[in-house]
Amino acid sequence: MAGILVLAKIENGVPSRSTLELLGAAHRLATGLQEPVCAGLLGQGDAGVLYSYGVEIVYRMDHPLLKEYQADLHLRALEQIAQAAEPRVMLLSGDSMGRDLAARLAFRLQAGIVTDVIDIDVQASEKAPRFMRPAYGGKAIAVMAPRVVPIVATLKPRTFDMAASVGEGHGREVPVEAPLDPGQARTRLVERVQEETTGVKLEDARVVVSGGRGLGGPDGFSLLVELARVLKGAVGASRAATDAGWVPSSMQVGQTGKTVSPDLYIAVGISGATQHVAGISGAKTIVAINTDPESSIFKVAHLGIVGDYKTILPPLSAKCRELMGG
Ligand SMILES: Cc1cc2nc3c(=O)[nH]c(=O)nc-3n(C[C@H](O)[C@H](O)[C@H](O)COP(=O)(O)OP(=O)(O)OC[C@H]3O[C@@H](n4cnc5c(N)ncnc54)[C@H](O)[C@@H]3O)c2cc1C
Repeated sequence: MAGILVLAKIENGVPSRSTLELLGAAHRLATGLQEPVCAGLLGQGDAGVLYSYGVEIVYRMDHPLLKEYQADLHLRALEQIAQAAEPRVMLLSGDSMGRDLAARLAFRLQAGIVTDVIDIDVQASEKAPRFMRPAYGGKAIAVMAPRVVPIVATLKPRTFDMAASVGEGHGREVPVEAPLDPGQARTRLVERVQEETTGVKLEDARVVVSGGRGLGGPDGFSLLVELARVLKGAVGASRAATDAGWVPSSMQVGQTGKTVSPDLYIAVGISGATQHVAGISGAKTIVAINTDPESSIFKVAHLGIVGDYKTILPPLSAKCRELMGG
């Protein structure tokens, strides 16, 4: 078994952001292990765009049943691809699909598994990959060196640098048979509901204004929405706020939510639990607004304002509006 295989997605003719992050990580492993980078591609999409990111072989499976995500069928497809490619390491994005598939895939392949990976390297002495993941709610980093191959790993989105294009690349495509039939699917898609989103996406925003339990209820978020609008940013939340149902869970930032890496992160009424801070370590500047001067958020914040958000946010938004001319 050799090579690093990433589960690739092509969106509008280009590799998705998560695919480029997987490829960035795959190349780091490939360099250390001196093994090639391959990709598994389900469905249609131009494999050629992957060659320009250093992919040498694309294992493609195409089948009408793979059009919509269905865990049993996608699992079967990935198992077939793994058997064809025989990789040392399989990398999946730690998004909802990757999290859904990884453990089941590892079981079927009798593979090792590491989830939530935030860093990787190759141990030079043993030429073996190592995976770093948060432990004890983000208070420590566990270094995992699986002893079996293959290894299935999910990478935490937005934590790895995206692979850069190498210009016109050359690779080859290997078609993989798809022994799929509808009887293998034990669940069926009943309805797809698209969450309404307006403005800039939380994960891509250069400014994020997040609110926590300290807002006291859903109404407090309107002040954050206004500040985010003025700063052309997005609104996020702590898990306390999403668990309370004040805002949708898609807005949750942190270990079990989204990882953000904005230029400016404003934490309002958030105490700074390690699980929340795990999602903002990539933020360049963190500003905290909190009534409690002893709050842990001030240990990670670059700038802190002690006080009630209700009195601080309106003049802050007004000043920003004046400065930004909007
Ligand atoms: C396995 C696991 C995973 C988790 N994953 C996540 C995650 O992904 N993201 C996440 O956020 N949490 C996560 N949590 C929960 C986390 O441990 C904390 O419970 C949560 O982050 C607390 O949210 P909070 O800071 O909004 O609330 P609190 O800790 O209650 O803090 C509220 C803060 O608001 C301040 N405040 C009160 N009134 C005002 C006011 N008027 N103006 C300004 N400040 C005010 C208070 O001083 C306090 O500091 C996870 C927990 C576990 C166990």
